[in-house]
Amino acid sequence: MEQLQLLQERLTKLGYTAHVFATGDAAKDYLLSAIPASDSVGVGGSMTVQQLGLAEALRARGQNVYWHWGVPAQEANEMRRLASTADSYLCSANALLTDGRIVNIDGFGNRLAATIYGPKKVYMIVGKNKIVSGGLDAAMDHIKNVSCPRNAKRLQLKTPCAAAGRCMDCASPDRMCRAVLILERKPNSHPMEILLVDEELGF
Ligand code: SF4
Repeated sequence: MEQLQLLQERLTKLGYTAHVFATGDAAKDYLLSAIPASDSVGVGGSMTVQQLGLAEALRARGQNVYWHWGVPAQEANEMRRLASTADSYLCSANALLTDGRIVNIDGFGNRLAATIYGPKKVYMIVGKNKIVSGGLDAAMDHIKNVSCPRNAKRLQLKTPCAAAGRCMDCASPDRMCRAVLILERKPNSHPMEILLVDEELGF
């Protein structure tokens, strides 16, 4: 918890509004109170959002939620586009460095784009397992050798990391590492809240 509080201070200095929550459920309750019921909500591919059941909770109160997961492939790009211009946008991070830098990798780039421009407000939920000390090299090592292999296996992608459990710098059509975004500070385009959670969420 102490590490999360230090990160909260650091992120606040970098322009974000940062919160610390003991549990994912507490973060979910906060989001359901913070996001106006009239907002449309976009979601970037996020196992964390899925774990917390946020899309279901928002839809249950009548909100439009734009999320490409589980949508037929021919409709997924339209869903990504709608998500990127929603009132509120929910996503997670692949890695949060202890100095406050946030690193994300995408195959399509929709989450990267929406994080920095498009929605009116962005909420990023970060479990403690995403916190990385040791700089950008450590963050990339974590993403390529922990996050991506586990996600590839979960999504049944045909990438070598899904089988080997580590990055092989592949040329697979399913390669999920095609663009990298490093946030050094909050982008000027919109308000952004970081929800730090003292639980493991996502990969
Ligand atoms: S480059 Fe390919 S093998 Fe390496 S982590 Fe990305 S998808 Fe997996």
